[in-house]
Amino acid sequence: MKKVVVIGGGITGLSAAYALHQARQSGQDVDYVLIEKDERLGGKILTEKIDGYVVEGGPDCFLAEKPWAIQMAEKIGIIDEIIPSNEASKRTYVFADRKLHQLPDGLMGLVPTKIVPFALSPLISWPGKIRMAMDWFIPKKTTNEDETLGSFVKRRLGQEALDKIAEPLIGGIHAGDPDQMSLVASFPRFIQMEQKHGSLLKAMLSARKNAPKPKPPEPGKLKKTFFMTFKEGMGQLTDAVAAKLDNSKILTGKIVTSVSKKQDGRYQVSIKDGEPIEADSVIITAPAHLAAEIVDGLDKVMAENLAGIPQATSATVNLAFKRSDVHKSIEAFGFIVPISEKRKIKAGTYSSTKWDFRTPSDDYVLIRAFVGGAMNQELVFQDDESMLNMVLSELKDIIGITAKPVMHKIYRWVKGMPQYTIGHLERIKNIEDRQAANPGIYIVGGSYRGVGVPDCINVGTQAAEQALAYMKLK
Ligand SMILES: Cc1cc2nc3c(=O)[nH]c(=O)nc-3n(C[C@H](O)[C@H](O)[C@H](O)COP(=O)(O)OP(=O)(O)OC[C@H]3O[C@@H](n4cnc5c(N)ncnc54)[C@H](O)[C@@H]3O)c2cc1C
Repeated sequence: MKKVVVIGGGITGLSAAYALHQARQSGQDVDYVLIEKDERLGGKILTEKIDGYVVEGGPDCFLAEKPWAIQMAEKIGIIDEIIPSNEASKRTYVFADRKLHQLPDGLMGLVPTKIVPFALSPLISWPGKIRMAMDWFIPKKTTNEDETLGSFVKRRLGQEALDKIAEPLIGGIHAGDPDQMSLVASFPRFIQMEQKHGSLLKAMLSARKNAPKPKPPEPGKLKKTFFMTFKEGMGQLTDAVAAKLDNSKILTGKIVTSVSKKQDGRYQVSIKDGEPIEADSVIITAPAHLAAEIVDGLDKVMAENLAGIPQATSATVNLAFKRSDVHKSIEAFGFIVPISEKRKIKAGTYSSTKWDFRTPSDDYVLIRAFVGGAMNQELVFQDDESMLNMVLSELKDIIGITAKPVMHKIYRWVKGMPQYTIGHLERIKNIEDRQAANPGIYIVGGSYRGVGVPDCINVGTQAAEQALAYMKLK
């Protein structure tokens, strides 16, 4: 019987293991084992129920446009547990010049598509607005060379759009530095828009004109919103996938130290304080810097390229307050904070406004603050008390909350956010070339071709399918 070892029990590894489990169930002669270094499965997906609050340590939602999370939920029988965001409160604020400004309605991506709300918004100064409008006339780039997100936005829309819109919006997603991030690896859509339409404004207006009219959801069908989550949090997804697997094929609390090639072309997976396991194929889903350590003895070039993918450090701080202690409106999804404001938090999500089922009752609210990211990593390494006081002091300045939280929980993600910097796609190509030279090895996950949960499900499933195809060929 052929055997596959899956390293890492985050959503990528769980998706790979689930595809192998299904293959086994459908009669294919394959065995698998999933090895996770922590005692719990889920990786960066970490939901805790604390005093009746649904507390998200890592991701709190997924993008519905990418179909793989919804497809997975359907397959494992939890489609009815998916919930939409509360669209009535769909507003985001930017904290700029010491005030909260609503992001103008009609902002698609980075580009305003509705003139009136944009013109009336005090977020961007008049010279800044005129500079953004010049995008209409600026000729498109004629070389194929990669550029940073920062350089692209400055070139097309100007510095103010970068500072007040692009950097904080992107900062929220990638915890990244726009002056380091590769445009082609992170936002290939912007390149297509510029190349096809000659201008981002023209591209967005054309997209708006050609967008299909939103249809009311069919009765009994899932009502889709841009971001979606699960009633009991994102952990419901990883728990449900894990519950489908055969328990005897999951090893938790075991660290894989290396993968080496045997003379017969099979692989040996070595485990700290454990017996090595032999396999025909190995799917490595550990974050790139840890995958580098695992393959160091197998393939130096692969390891060097993996180690070359930087990972930023960040933290999320969840806080519950009595609703009566919150005097400013939090009827919104939250706020983002440009780095130019020199504040100590990057964003705040009003979790209990954005989603239902987050608090034990309506008398409480749940807020989540983001600390750190590529440009402020040192803030993550203070002790819990200092971190809590820092976040409370920022929330006081930004939304005027002075009360003590009734519950709080801090999660640190050291090297938890892969950064797709200039040269990322080259590094990925080198890694993939070295995979081809080591047949049966697959390296997939959030560090490589998409950080979102749906992307991770997709690449994990694909890696399992590739492993199955490879083993039949052998
Ligand atoms: C704070 C934060 C917020 C985020 N928000 C969102 C969001 O809202 N929406 C979204 O779509 N995405 C979000 N993301 C990104 C998303 O969570 C990740 O890209 C995704 O969960 C990565 O899954 P993965 O399985 O590839 O990696 P991981 O979840 O990192 O799993 C890898 C696993 O490998 C294990 N491992 C590592 N080394 C070894 C070893 N030597 N031996 C055995 N096991 C090992 C690790 O312990 C880990 O469990 C967020 C990420 C963070 C950090």
